[in-house]
Amino acid sequence: MGALVIELEGAARRYTVEGREIWALQRTTLRVDRGELVVVLGPSGSGKSTLINLVGGLDQPTEGRVTVGGVEVSALHRDALVRYRRDVTAVVFQAHNLVPHLTARENVELAAELVGRTTHVDEALAAVGLAPRAHHFPQELSGGEQQRVAIARCLVKAPSLLLADEPTGSLDAETGKKVVKLLEDQHARGCCVVIVTHNAAIARVATRVITMRGGMVHTDAQNPHRVGADSLEW
Ligand code: ADP
Repeated sequence: MGALVIELEGAARRYTVEGREIWALQRTTLRVDRGELVVVLGPSGSGKSTLINLVGGLDQPTEGRVTVGGVEVSALHRDALVRYRRDVTAVVFQAHNLVPHLTARENVELAAELVGRTTHVDEALAAVGLAPRAHHFPQELSGGEQQRVAIARCLVKAPSLLLADEPTGSLDAETGKKVVKLLEDQHARGCCVVIVTHNAAIARVATRVITMRGGMVHTDAQNPHRVGADSLEW
């Protein structure tokens, strides 16, 4: 994919619960260019996950449009959505969603097979520092190591867009910093990276910081004082 650009045009996600309307994301217009490392901050319930799910093709807006790299993701049907999620995006969640009965290597291999990149499995595990644990099962790994396997599973796809939803949520500060560094490395290789978090410290690595409140973008600014993940404190 060439000049990947994320565009939300009046995109919203509304739920009706017991006759009452809940706007998880109010009508939002937003553009993110390739080359940005965006950190989305906001308290729990402010619409951060909803935003990332719409961009990742994991959920559909009830209003408006979401376009990524010229493809209207919000209009894609099932098979095209599966291809979009497979070929364009990679998503890191707080819960690592590893397959429990597969080893670290097999988890990464599974993702690699889907995109025909099985020759890159060991390279991805090495990039996250887990080559020595390749044959361990998820329950034999710490939370931080499991998250690194989840990131290796994303790296092996060489995605154009990497979305991370609270990627450091369950990790201690030292491990969290390593995870942010890995995401930063992806940005350095030209991948557009969007990190959703309630940890304001992480925003220091961003090129652009968006804050959310009540399902709306509250502030949106470039970060002229960007630092590397190695200098983060939290
Ligand atoms: P955040 O990621 O910032 O914690 P979310 O995007 O998960 O926020 O949720 C935003 C709002 O939308 C919250 O008030 C949440 O309760 C509501 N919401 C999310 N999913 C649903 C759902 N399936 N049904 C009803 N309300 C939902």
